[in-house]
Amino acid sequence: MLNGERLISRPLRWGMVGGGRTGQVGYKHRTGAQRDGTYRLVCGAFDLDAARGRDFGVAIGVDAGRCYADYRELIAREATREDGVEVVSIATPNFTHYEITKACLEAGLHVICEKPLFFSVAECDEIATLAKAKGLIVGVTYGFTGHPLVHQMAAMVAKGMLGEIRIVDLRYTHGFNAGDDVGAPEAVKWRTNPRTAGPTFVLGDIGTHLYYLSEIVLPHLKIERLLCDRTAFIPSRAPLEDHATVLMHYHNGARGRLWVSSVDAGNMGSQRYRFVGSKASVEWSDSHPDQLLYDVQGEPNRILHHGMPYLEGESLAADRMGALHTEGLGDSWANIYLWIAQAIDAKRRGDEAFLTTHHYPGIEAGTEGVRWLENCVRSADACATWVDFK
Ligand code: NAD
Repeated sequence: MLNGERLISRPLRWGMVGGGRTGQVGYKHRTGAQRDGTYRLVCGAFDLDAARGRDFGVAIGVDAGRCYADYRELIAREATREDGVEVVSIATPNFTHYEITKACLEAGLHVICEKPLFFSVAECDEIATLAKAKGLIVGVTYGFTGHPLVHQMAAMVAKGMLGEIRIVDLRYTHGFNAGDDVGAPEAVKWRTNPRTAGPTFVLGDIGTHLYYLSEIVLPHLKIERLLCDRTAFIPSRAPLEDHATVLMHYHNGARGRLWVSSVDAGNMGSQRYRFVGSKASVEWSDSHPDQLLYDVQGEPNRILHHGMPYLEGESLAADRMGALHTEGLGDSWANIYLWIAQAIDAKRRGDEAFLTTHHYPGIEAGTEGVRWLENCVRSADACATWVDFK
């Protein structure tokens, strides 16, 4: 169980690019990073609007002199300080991720970047090579995978409690874009434009969360072929999609179905995961992250609760609140940030042995998400035909 004791040798000097006053995701980063004393926010280029970014930075306790107009100034000015920033989080629209990550790594800074990581696998490979050459970590904020019961599902699959995996059923849908985009906020405008969002809208925006979580639970299952059907119910969003269905064939014969949509009018259920094996199934939703359904064929269905001693060690190790007290998204983000901090700390100490067994969402996780997107787009653009997974 985690209790806030600092698990790294000293706090990391941390900066943010984006995530300012108007940003949707910035607070989740700060909630996660600042929980365990592992990161100290020392600087930022929080906003496209430099004055608003500075005002915001000061309001959350950052020195005015270290609230910069943009990431270039942040990198250049921090490099001149003895106590300059060591790790930078990137919480900006998708099209900026690659250039900001590259600039930070070239300046010797670790990076924690939002998903979808970049636009192409080629960009991911280039950045992975750069990070390796520089001895730096790239973390990716798949913020839902810090929930303890996600790791309970993974441990149960690994122990064979479900039997052979047959069916993977994934859904992340909401209705926030059911209407048209006239007068839509910036966060919708950039998401529906291929220049700023990349090759996908909902597949990258929410589908990558589903895909990464399924990889955590089923690390041994590899997709062999997939079929993706995508459409834009609001025509102005084309060629990007506001709705998609993906069918997946795995190497062991298992079948997967994934549904992502931002036009699922009225749905506030968000994410649902069901993994079906030959003996039993588990089902989890981020709406009730403290509960896991465990359905054994022929037995009464069970609800497992977080923090209980009957859970696997992997799940208990990620628990913060203890049984009976609710865990939430902030706790999940705190775990993701902690695991990335431990990776950065190990790099800094030259402890490569620790890194061989330590699990955190890194550049490989970001790359696999982008690879999955490339395959989805290839299938969808060929009129929703089956394609071999490359
Ligand atoms: P947003 O449009 O709400 O906010 C973007 C923020 O970045 C704003 O503060 C804007 O001023 C700032 N910004 C834009 N360009 C900048 C630049 N070049 N330099 C500095 N600041 C800049 O977007 P959002 O919803 O917060 O999404 C940002 C990223 O986070 C996207 O990649 C998105 O996919 C991802 N995201 C992830 C999650 C998650 O659960 N991991 C949730 C939401 C968004």
